[in-house]
Amino acid sequence: MQELAYKKTDEIEMHCVPDLGLLLADELEKFIDENRLDRYKLLGIGLALPGVIDEEKKQITFAPTLRMTNISIDGLIAHLRYPVYVENDGTSGGYAEYFLQPEKSSMAYLSLENGVGGAVLLNGAPYFGMHHRSGEFGHMCVEPGGLACACGKNGCMECYCSAKRISTDLGITLEEFFAGLEQHNPEYETLWEDLLQHLAIGINNIRMALDCDVVLGGFLSQYMTPFLPDLRRRTAALNTFEDNADYIDLCLYPRRAVMLGVALYFIRDFIETI
Ligand SMILES: [Zn+2]
Repeated sequence: MQELAYKKTDEIEMHCVPDLGLLLADELEKFIDENRLDRYKLLGIGLALPGVIDEEKKQITFAPTLRMTNISIDGLIAHLRYPVYVENDGTSGGYAEYFLQPEKSSMAYLSLENGVGGAVLLNGAPYFGMHHRSGEFGHMCVEPGGLACACGKNGCMECYCSAKRISTDLGITLEEFFAGLEQHNPEYETLWEDLLQHLAIGINNIRMALDCDVVLGGFLSQYMTPFLPDLRRRTAALNTFEDNADYIDLCLYPRRAVMLGVALYFIRDFIETI
């Protein structure tokens, strides 16, 4: 279940929802044909997007990473001929991690990718909050008046702790960044220290608010293992009640949790019918 069967990455301008919907439907049908899949066995399509989802209005109300607001979900899925489930990417990733580690019944999942997001899981179920914005840790302020964020505010954790800050913004890959860090590139060291410190502030705030384990996910987390002791030390130093931060863990699936999480919506229902 954790295998990735197919992957395609495309750089497209996503300003027109109907066009994007058509593209999705077209790519899906091509994928099914190329892999000779049986359409009748397809349980459904899971779409995970970096945005706030309003189920009542059937809209993705706010997606700063995509630079889009008020995306009509019906418009997006109109051309898909199968049952569709749309979820926030952080929530999907968090749910997958919970599913794979059920002993962590309550946790905050903090996803570090080009955007920063997350999810809150309480007693095994996602906690969405009053406006489906629970776990939007990326826009939690960690530096008042700090760097400008795509959301229009300043000092958000996403500005300080995203993978984009240490790759795309520098014009290098993450591999190049961490190779440079290993060779003590002073610019990279300063940037990384700053990222870790703001990450520690964000994690400590999450811990203070929720008092649960914090799991770091997203593709940046796969580079974090050697830095975890330092991150825990920095986080513990900020905490009023605890002298260690062993509650911070790395996720099991830094690259596939989102896809797995949104697919689980259908798989879970299917298993219940057996
Ligand atoms: Zn923001």
